[in-house]
Amino acid sequence: MSKTYKSVIVGGGAAGLLCAVELLSGKDAFSCSDVLVLERNDRVGKKLVATGNGQCNLDNAGVSAEHYYGNREFIECFIKQYNEICPERYFYKIGIPFETDGDGRKYPLSRQASAVSDIIRFCLENKNCKMLTDRKVIALSFSDGSFRVTAEKETYRAENVVLAVGGAAARQFGTDGSSYVLAKGFGHRLTPLYPSLVQLKTELGPVRGLKGIKEHAKISAFDGKKYLCSAVGDVLFTEYGVSGNAVFSVSSRVVSAKDPILKIEFLPEKTEREICDILEYRKTLGYIDNKDALCALVNKRVGQAILKASCDPESIQKTVSALKNFTLKVTGNTGFNNAQVTKGGIDTRDVECSTMESRLQKGLYITGEMLDVDGDCGGYNLAFSFVSGITAARAIKTKYRGKDINKFW
Ligand SMILES: Cc1cc2nc3c(=O)[nH]c(=O)nc-3n(C[C@H](O)[C@H](O)[C@H](O)COP(=O)(O)OP(=O)(O)OC[C@H]3O[C@@H](n4cnc5c(N)ncnc54)[C@H](O)[C@@H]3O)c2cc1C
Repeated sequence: MSKTYKSVIVGGGAAGLLCAVELLSGKDAFSCSDVLVLERNDRVGKKLVATGNGQCNLDNAGVSAEHYYGNREFIECFIKQYNEICPERYFYKIGIPFETDGDGRKYPLSRQASAVSDIIRFCLENKNCKMLTDRKVIALSFSDGSFRVTAEKETYRAENVVLAVGGAAARQFGTDGSSYVLAKGFGHRLTPLYPSLVQLKTELGPVRGLKGIKEHAKISAFDGKKYLCSAVGDVLFTEYGVSGNAVFSVSSRVVSAKDPILKIEFLPEKTEREICDILEYRKTLGYIDNKDALCALVNKRVGQAILKASCDPESIQKTVSALKNFTLKVTGNTGFNNAQVTKGGIDTRDVECSTMESRLQKGLYITGEMLDVDGDCGGYNLAFSFVSGITAARAIKTKYRGKDINKFW
């Protein structure tokens, strides 16, 4: 354990890898011998490859504070860092040009998540970045002016440590919630954790028989009578409830609600009046029975379920109302293993947002999903992780600016 690294980064995911890129870039770049990345998996960037259904939705044209949940002050400050860093420009510089889809979601031009991971890795390898895999860090302490970073087999020493260990969601990628302890050891508080961007379990009666059907709809979430949020997109019916991008989008508000309820509005682009007109006209045709009232408007089986919910298939008014307010009680979610993101994490009141440095331990930086910040579905979470990793790296480099790096020790 003789060498002291200027910076040890724990976690080779989105935040950790971009932190390493930034530490090794620019006029004030660290030498590769001063930086070490420790990753518990057998390779870095494993989760990145799975993001965005393999396409990596790595940013969004609409990034703003209202797409993030957590401490407002911290989030407002993050938005400033985001605008300054501009991930699209940053990624272009390292060789990953973006394209933006009609919903503002940004992807690499190739739409291949594995290519994003490849280029970041090529960039780091070109800078001779030392990345050690199969190194799970199990303890972290500070004494005599430096950190001791203890992995399962070795201990490393560092002037600065960047925790980029992710959260508790998707344990198959190395993020099982066991690494919060590394920050808690310095007195950091953990807010309650929930799975987010996750499938929702609902009462089964209304959705029985709909498994596998996907409808375009507007979905609104309520906590009892209190409106929470809504989203338009795909709703996929499953054996346990609902999934699909619209469900993921509202899930982040639903998971922590006491009495969560979903209202699904089918045919969201048509008004109730327009649908009433269609149904009234079809009645005049004489060959469409009440039981088929919604046939050719929505999926046939969905139509049957809506008619059942309307309780009065004779009444056009009640049918349209059921179509626009198909209500489901939420009974749970499919848990951390199926979630994309963790809601909750290390309390941001103890972290300085402009640097990501701990307020409780100098030289300790906390980034990415480990923090109590989660974003909507659509590239917001990766954007937060990338920017927080780069911010930490810039803050660390600033500490050394003007100092003769070789004589610093
Ligand atoms: C299937 C899936 C799809 C997703 N798609 C998108 C998307 O398209 N757009 C989007 O914005 N977000 C998406 N997300 C969310 C996004 O991937 C995460 O929010 C983001 O990766 C978090 O970045 P991070 O660097 O904080 O943590 P991670 O990327 O989770 O990286 C943490 C790394 O630290 C390592 N690690 C953990 N503990 C230790 C330890 N003790 N010692 C050493 N290493 C450790 C882990 O193995 C992991 O490699 C998706 C998530 C999943 C699961």
